Formats: sequence, structure tokens, C-alpha cells
Amino acid sequence: MTLIDTHCHLTYAGLLEQQAAVVQRAKAAGVGAMVTIGTHPPDHALVLQTLASFDCVAGALGVHPHHAGEVSDDFAAALELQMAAAPRVVAVGECGLDYHFYPPAECAQQRPVFVRQLEIARRLNKPVILHVRDAHADACAIMRDFTDLKFVVHCFTGTPDECARWLELGAYVGITGVVTYKNAPDVRAVARLVLPDRLLVETDAPYLSPQPVRKIKINEPAFVTHVAQRVAAERGVDELELARQTTRNAAAFFGENVFAAALANSDMS
Ligand SMILES: [Zn+2]
Ligand SMILES: [Zn+2]
Repeated sequence: MTLIDTHCHLTYAGLLEQQAAVVQRAKAAGVGAMVTIGTHPPDHALVLQTLASFDCVAGALGVHPHHAGEVSDDFAAALELQMAAAPRVVAVGECGLDYHFYPPAECAQQRPVFVRQLEIARRLNKPVILHVRDAHADACAIMRDFTDLKFVVHCFTGTPDECARWLELGAYVGITGVVTYKNAPDVRAVARLVLPDRLLVETDAPYLSPQPVRKIKINEPAFVTHVAQRVAAERGVDELELARQTTRNAAAFFGENVFAAALANSDMS
């Protein structure tokens, strides 16, 4: 069985100090490849270093809505140049809208930063990783102009109705360890609802450790196995089938060649 962790942060404290061991434990757990996500310019440099160190790690670069207020007006040109020069950067993101902690003025500031990144994705023909929290209606409205792009709504925590609207736009949906939390019946409903060819699994490590390691261990890509196990149970399919399907979907989303070498070296059954 081979799984891909489609969203983690190997450059964040807790994982950065032990990257080699983290990657090793992922492989031992059957997680043959992972995508590490850059969220702001200083983080992008660390992502590029990480990609140079590990063949089984692909990357994405973007400006997370939490960092939207920090970037200068010309951030997009620099980001586009950096992406165009780095072949193992396979997606734009994470970018999007997060209204959870922010007053309206700062929410408004997130929107142009998001749109600039969608334009980069279109010019470079790359898929986009969206971070959307408490902002599904606004993010959907923006994406209506970008349905030519492949995009995933990562760590989906909206309602089944919101998910249905995303699926109408052609979105992929990323499910994290939140699916294992007692207080997340909506995420389990979403895990059952997503079409088989639109489903991705991810950890969002070092955050959101799934059960049974929640509050015991910092999250890491190896634990996407727990996410996949729960998603398979919710969908009533066996784990092997779920792994095959989500790994196929990750290849379709990020590019058929992105994980080929890493998966050839692992047990691709
Ligand atoms: Zn996120
Ligand atoms: Zn993330």
C-alpha cells in the first residue's frame, strides 16, 4: 500500500529539526511521497532546501492568508520567478481566505493576494492548494473565474452543503486528521460525500495529529495512514482501495510524473 501525504509543513518547527527521520518514518509506514507547503517568503527558502534533500518530497509555494498582510505589492513577480525556476515546485499555495481570526479590513486585504496567486497558477499551468476557513462563499465566488485551474480545498472543515458547492466547481477536497475527531461529524459527512476521483488525504503536519496519536505526538506524514484508515471506514471501502484511489488522484492533481520515482522505490501494490 502506498499513500501520499498531499499537504504537510516539513519546514515548520517540530519537523524541520528532524526532517530525515520524519521522511524515513513516513516511508516505513507506507507513505511513499509527500508535498511540503511553503506559506510565506522566508519559508519558501526552506522549502527549496528541503526539496534538494529528499527525492520523495515535492513542494508548493504560496502566501497563506495569515501572511497576506506581510507581503509587498510586488510579491507576485518574485513568487512567479521562483516557481518557474524550480521544477519540483509542483503547485501554487497554500493561498486563499481565512476569516476566522480577522476583522473585516484584514479579510478584504486577503482577497487581492489570493487572486494574484491564482493568476500565477494560470500563467504557469500549475494546480492550486486553497486554504479556506469561514470564507467558503467568498472563496467560491472568486474561484468561479478560475474553473480552468485544478485546485484542492485543503483541510476541508466546511459543511456538506459548502462541499457540494465546491464539487460543482470541480474542486478536489483534502481530508485531514480532523476526520478522526469526535466533534467533527461534518468532516466525516464530507469524507463520505466527495466523489472518488476528487478525494485527497493529507496530514497538515505538524498540526492536527489524528487519533490515536492526538495530543500525544506532533503530527507527521507517517500519520496520514490514520487519516486514510478513517476515511476508508467512512466510505465503506477497504484501505487498499482507498490508498490506490487517493494516490491516483494525487498524481492526476500534481502531475503524473511528480511521484513516479518515489513510488517506484516503494511498494506500489
Ligand atoms: Zn491551511
Ligand atoms: Zn497547511
